[in-house]
Amino acid sequence: MLGTMANVAIVTGGSRGIGAAVVQALAEGGWDVAVGYHSDGEAARAVVGRVEALGRRAIACRLDVGDEEQVVALFDRVRTQLGAPRALVNNAGIVAPPSRLDDMSAERIQQMFKVNVLGAFLCAREAVRAMSTHHGGSGGAIVNVSSGATKVGSPAEYVDYAASKGALEVLTLGLAKETGGEGIRVNAVRPGIIDTEIHARNDQPDKPARLASTVPLGRAGSPEEVAAAVCWLCSDASSYVSGAILDVAGGR
Ligand code: NAP
Repeated sequence: MLGTMANVAIVTGGSRGIGAAVVQALAEGGWDVAVGYHSDGEAARAVVGRVEALGRRAIACRLDVGDEEQVVALFDRVRTQLGAPRALVNNAGIVAPPSRLDDMSAERIQQMFKVNVLGAFLCAREAVRAMSTHHGGSGGAIVNVSSGATKVGSPAEYVDYAASKGALEVLTLGLAKETGGEGIRVNAVRPGIIDTEIHARNDQPDKPARLASTVPLGRAGSPEEVAAAVCWLCSDASSYVSGAILDVAGGR
């Protein structure tokens, strides 16, 4: 397999958690992968090393997805170093410590929407420019990583986060219709409670264990379980699926 041409995928936030598991699953499925990250270069390079060990190509790409210039530069670099992308996984996302809306600063809300919404929109825009047959591309898949928070609104925890993911789901529905005739499928996954560092980093280290009993399957999910769904939505195995929002939440 070493050195053979492969489909190219871009995974934002591919250095840790769900994104790192998505990169791994894509590489195992024969993809070359651009691993986006924000600040943890060591984690990103470790993910790249695991992809290369599978005989696939990978590059670590540092960027803030909320910065237009950096997003455009990411796509330029991928095109030059790996080739035309066939998949984008809009996975980079942030939450914040639990808070009621009446205690939230404008800065917090702005940052939430900058990363989770503007970031995903800019990456999707560049993906359409790169993949749409309308622009001379050969089609592809976009997968947006939403959250089960959109079903409950996350009161007294992070309604800003839930609303930002709501925007991502509407982007999924609209863009699927806008670009379906141009060879692009757009879908989303809606993970439930997944065991990653995101909880501990936002003052809720016990969240997966605390909420396990509220999940019909009785446990938090693993990043690999979300990655399997994302990988399927990137692949031709889901060739007639577009505009779908797939719950990966243990029945919750
Ligand atoms: P995580 O472990 O905190 O990883 C977040 C990733 O996003 C890291 O690779 C991080 O890079 C990157 N990132 C953060 N801010 C960024 C920015 N401004 N620009 C570019 N990259 C940035 O998170 P996770 O739990 O795997 O979550 C991944 C996605 O799943 C998020 O969209 C999250 O909302 C969603 N989700 C998670 C859960 C859950 O329970 N874990 C549930 C539902 C949905 P650095 O490490 O370099 O900072």
